[in-house]
Amino acid sequence: MGFSPAYMNLFKTGEFTERVSKAVEILGKCRLCPRECGVNRLNNEKGFCKSGRLAMISSVGPHFGEESPLVGRNGSGAIFFTNCNLGCLFCQNYDISHLSEGREVESEYLANAMLSLQNYGCHNINFVTPTHYAPQILEGLVIAIERGLSVPLVYNCGGYESLEMIKLLDSVVDIYMPDIKYGDNEIAKKYSKAPDYFDIVKSVITEMHRQVGDLAINKQGIAERGLLIRHLVMPNRLAGTDKVVDFVSKLSKNTYINIMAQYRPQYKAGNYPELNRRIITDEYVNAILLAEKVGLTRGFRHE
Ligand code: SF4
Repeated sequence: MGFSPAYMNLFKTGEFTERVSKAVEILGKCRLCPRECGVNRLNNEKGFCKSGRLAMISSVGPHFGEESPLVGRNGSGAIFFTNCNLGCLFCQNYDISHLSEGREVESEYLANAMLSLQNYGCHNINFVTPTHYAPQILEGLVIAIERGLSVPLVYNCGGYESLEMIKLLDSVVDIYMPDIKYGDNEIAKKYSKAPDYFDIVKSVITEMHRQVGDLAINKQGIAERGLLIRHLVMPNRLAGTDKVVDFVSKLSKNTYINIMAQYRPQYKAGNYPELNRRIITDEYVNAILLAEKVGLTRGFRHE
C-alpha cells in the first residue's frame, strides 16, 4: 500500500466538512491569525491582511525552488496566495504580499488548480502564504478531494498562526512548513509588526509537531508527512538564530530545518541601515555552527 494522506480518512468520516464550517465561521469575526482583527470577512470587511471573503492568488504552477524532498522530479505544486498577515519591512515577495498583486478566485477555481497540479505530476500541493485564507483553502479542498485529490498538502506559512486554526488543520495538513523568522519579540515587532511573534511561533510549531512529527521522507526521497522549518539568516544577527535553534532542538533534534542564506534587502529595508545589505559568509557559518552546537543535523549544509 502506498502513502495515503490523513485528509482522506477525515473526508470519509464526514469530519472534514465540519472543520470547513468551523473555519468559515471564524471569518465572520476574523481571528484567523493572532492579530484577531475581528472584522467580518464574510461581508468582505478587511483587516490587517487586506483580504476579504474570497482567496486571492498570484500564480499556480510546479515549483522547483523549494527544498529537494518537496520538489523531487516533477516539482512542488505551488499555489501562491496574495497578501499576508505579517508586515515584514524586508519582504522578499512584496509585490504579492504587500502590493496585493493577484486576483480573487472561487473555491471551484482553487480545486481545479490543485487537481491540475496533481495531474501534472507534482508531488504535493504547496499552499504558499495560506494563513489568512485557510477556510477558503478548506472549501476548495472539499471539491478537490471529492474529485480525486490524493497528494500530500504542504502548509507553507510565516509561523504567525492562530492555535485554534492550526488545531482545525489536524489530519488535514500532511507537511507543515513554517518560518521561524525571529527569536525575539521586540525585533519581530520592529520589522514585522508582530509583537508576540516568537511566543506565538513556539506554541504553534509545538502543536504542528505534535500533529505530524519529524519530517518523514520516502525511499524516492520525497517528503510525505512532518515538519519542515525555515529560518532566514538576517544581517547583524537580527534573526536571533541562537534562540531559534535552541527552541527547535528542544522540540526534536531530528527536526528538518532549512537555514537559508538568500536574504536580500527588499521592499522598505533600504530605510533601515541594519537591514540594508546581504549577509556575509561569517554570519551564515555562525548560524550553521549554532545549529550544530545544539545537536541539529537535518536540512542544512554542514560543510
Ligand atoms: S487573517 Fe487578516 S483579518 Fe484575520 S485576524 Fe489575521 S490579519 Fe486580521
